[in-house]
Amino acid sequence: MAEEKANLLGMPRAALGSFFAKIGEKPYRADQVMRWIYRGKVTDIDAMTNISRSLRGHLKEIAEIRVPAFSAGTRSSDGVVKWLAHTEHGQAVETVLIPDAGAAYDGATEGGAPHRRNTLCISSQVGCALDCSFCATGKQGFNGNLTRAEIVGQVWQAGRELADRGDERGITNVVFMGMGEPLLNFQPVLDAADVLMDDLAFGISKRRVTISTAGVVPRIRDLASHTDVSLAVSLHAPRDELRNVLVPLNRKYPIAEVLDACRHYLRGLGERRSITMEYTLIDGVNDSVVDARDLAHLLTGLRTKVNLIPFNPFPEDRNGYRRPSPARIDRFQTSLLNAGVATMLRTTRGDEIGAACGQLTGTVHDRTQRRTRYLARERVSLETRSVP
Ligand code: SAH
Repeated sequence: MAEEKANLLGMPRAALGSFFAKIGEKPYRADQVMRWIYRGKVTDIDAMTNISRSLRGHLKEIAEIRVPAFSAGTRSSDGVVKWLAHTEHGQAVETVLIPDAGAAYDGATEGGAPHRRNTLCISSQVGCALDCSFCATGKQGFNGNLTRAEIVGQVWQAGRELADRGDERGITNVVFMGMGEPLLNFQPVLDAADVLMDDLAFGISKRRVTISTAGVVPRIRDLASHTDVSLAVSLHAPRDELRNVLVPLNRKYPIAEVLDACRHYLRGLGERRSITMEYTLIDGVNDSVVDARDLAHLLTGLRTKVNLIPFNPFPEDRNGYRRPSPARIDRFQTSLLNAGVATMLRTTRGDEIGAACGQLTGTVHDRTQRRTRYLARERVSLETRSVP
């Protein structure tokens, strides 16, 4: 059987350099090919005209640029666009574009001028194995990891759509906050982040690439030895007994261990950078003044910003969760601010098309049967998760 062709999409520059070295070519070929793929948006090796005809012929036999197919985007009235990205195994994950005309808060703006962002929220897995109680993705069950090409391909496709519309800014920020737990698909996510930050590819600054995790402690530590991209941690509760219910992974990696890993990660970031703590506010569950006080206490002395996300409802919810009233949300945020905790409120966007935080479902062929069991209100034990 013929060996499968190498997919050059999503290959970090160093890997592409070794690929060329193996066929007796100089490393600068990697630079040329990267420019074609990401700047030129070229997928046809024959169109790479600064590469000799004979080398192109050889390349076509052993390599290709395979981009995941995107379905036509669904656009929400607030400008959010959601696409389905199809995997090679007949499933689909969701990718969400959040255009924003607001001022930057990430410190990366020159002269404090308002900076328009095109933030892309990308998926890293087909479904999710973690099954957080308030998230729609977990209810779909889990099928597996995306490849680095399928991860980078989401940014490539969205960038092309923007270019087609004449939006010259392209993708300015990427958040790994779509479907899946990025740190349980470690190497492909790391490779993808590398390509996103590479000047020959997307050239996005490390401050504007954010990996979000539910708190896979050993992988946060591993991440620190490989990269200093921005990190977000889905905290959602200030005490273990509550977090155990909302984020079942907490039974394996409790809050104190997660925060220790954050301290470790912060050592690799510059003094002015911090970790974002995501906190989904659920009415009567984790939004009391006592919760805010405990949260402020927990985060004292840690360089963090809290990002409050009002709960977004989804059809499969069996817990009867609700979004708190604006007054309760305000009270929670004010308590944190008064305690000296930098706190932002994430405005709900894209919810009319099911594109808001926690609403992403895609098309997952569930291998864990969780969806069926969940609907029958059974618990799935943590041991069914596949942790590398
Ligand atoms: N597994 C990673 C990446 C997913 S991020 C992680 O947990 O960080 C998805 C973000 O949306 C998380 O902060 C998550 O807590 C939040 N979220 C999930 N479900 C939500 C819902 N129903 N309403 C609001 N936010 C939600």
